[in-house]
Amino acid sequence: MQGLCRQLAPRLAQGSHLFRVPGNAHAVNAVVLRTYSDKAPLDADVTVIGSGPGGYVAAIKAAQLGFKVICVEKNETLGGTCLNVGCIPSKALLNNSYFYHLAHGKDFASRGIEIQGLKLNLEKMMEQKSGAVKALTGGIAHLFKQNKVTHVKGHGMITGKNQVTAACADGSQQVINTKNILIATGSEVTPFQGIEVDEETVVSSTGALSLKQVPEKLVVIGAGVIGVELGSVWQRLGAEVTAVEFLGHVGGAGIDMEISKNFQRILQKQGMKFKLSTKVMAASRRADGKIDVQTEPAKGGAADTLTCDVLLVCVGRRPFTAGLGLEELGIALDNRGRVPINNRFQTSIPNIYAIGDAVAGPMLAHKAEDEGIICVEGMAGGAVHIDYNCVPSVIYTHPEVAWIGKNEEQLKEEGVPYKIGKFPFAANSRAKTNADTDGLVKILAHKETDRMLGAHILGSGAGEMINEAALAMEYGASCEDVARVCHAHPTVSEAFREANLAATFGKAINF
Ligand SMILES: Cc1cc2nc3c(=O)[nH]c(=O)nc-3n(C[C@H](O)[C@H](O)[C@H](O)COP(=O)(O)OP(=O)(O)OC[C@H]3O[C@@H](n4cnc5c(N)ncnc54)[C@H](O)[C@@H]3O)c2cc1C
Repeated sequence: MQGLCRQLAPRLAQGSHLFRVPGNAHAVNAVVLRTYSDKAPLDADVTVIGSGPGGYVAAIKAAQLGFKVICVEKNETLGGTCLNVGCIPSKALLNNSYFYHLAHGKDFASRGIEIQGLKLNLEKMMEQKSGAVKALTGGIAHLFKQNKVTHVKGHGMITGKNQVTAACADGSQQVINTKNILIATGSEVTPFQGIEVDEETVVSSTGALSLKQVPEKLVVIGAGVIGVELGSVWQRLGAEVTAVEFLGHVGGAGIDMEISKNFQRILQKQGMKFKLSTKVMAASRRADGKIDVQTEPAKGGAADTLTCDVLLVCVGRRPFTAGLGLEELGIALDNRGRVPINNRFQTSIPNIYAIGDAVAGPMLAHKAEDEGIICVEGMAGGAVHIDYNCVPSVIYTHPEVAWIGKNEEQLKEEGVPYKIGKFPFAANSRAKTNADTDGLVKILAHKETDRMLGAHILGSGAGEMINEAALAMEYGASCEDVARVCHAHPTVSEAFREANLAATFGKAINF
């Protein structure tokens, strides 16, 4: 341990470069070290590095379990990617751009709501988004106080098996002696080789959340979850959006192909264009400021050029562990830069744990949260179990897409005998009254046991409805169990019940 401290000291004294890290949100808040004044060391049972949904939830739960907890966060605000540049600001923009789209298009008029002089105030829309972010990040600071979690502002480095040293923005260091360390350092935008992001006209998801004006033409590299969500925002606000995707489908990994095809058709009807099975080769800025994006079919073939005002690079995220000191500790990352852990979230050093986007599994806020809670319960001697098959995925477009468990392609590949129950929202009374009938519920059940194996929903409110499927699957419910639960009428979730009826009895009632 002392050896590691000695290694850190001269590196800290060299100045800022050690902590100057590449990437979006991280670079903005990188700590610059110049002068050092040591503070008295702190003691903790658990030191959490990172305050994203994984880290802050773990810190609060650990405190509730009686641990003395410190959370080290390098950013100015708490909440990580999710609250600052991820889930929260994107959903604020999705919600408000959807209202604008309804009011602007034919939708409101067809409902008897006529608006004259409608105009977009983008600055105000951004202000509402920032207000939601501010309230929620501030809320975590309040929860930390309430739960007696100490917040240390600084870049945390693990300087020993039982020590974290935070490099604070004022140039001082805070040493924390700790029984356990939890790495919750999350992820950063994956760069696209050869295309430099300036967050103004060539943007990552972070820049796409704060554009100052609606681009005339937007090209999105990647038609996965974040690509179609942010593409939808700007398309609704008036941009002509083309998404270029290497894969042959939209919606990213895990989506059921039947749902993906329907989803693509609906997005196209809304005006979004797709170039699937296509790779982006390069992008260059023209003299007039526009950007030329060179594409080619994924399997090779004739090249094409798309011209746009803004290029959004959305090719995924990668774990962020820069400047954490893992190499010095002998913790080697896997081939995708993730921190390897066992089924109790322990690294190769048993009192150093890792969760969330920094480890394997879907990069989702609720997955990080669940891991955080279960991990610290494990530290307290509790059972550690998480069923990754029961982690839902949601795309917050309109209509939304949500799924959980296996998709049809996976069941076929695994040779599992299955049956299908489907119900279209066009036959659901509430969807009909809402004049919002796009999509369907598709339930996959074991052919012999009737156990629910997967639920795939394309429709308004799918992101809420999927939690019913999560509950059913966590408890090993059969489709008949769900079909026999009384559902309030008229609700959109009656479609979920009907699809389960169809899976169990071969027929729905209302379709
Ligand atoms: C545009 C966008 C939209 C998204 N929408 C959704 C969604 O709708 N639903 C969903 O489930 N997921 C969504 N995600 C993904 C979600 O944000 C992440 O899965 C989630 O934030 C991961 O949580 P985490 O706690 O592992 O890490 P993060 O949220 O990335 O937090 C890590 C924190 O650690 C800090 N940190 C890193 N290194 C150090 C260090 N050495 N010292 C101190 N602090 C450090 C970082 O500053 C950061 O605050 C979205 C992501 C993006 C980009």
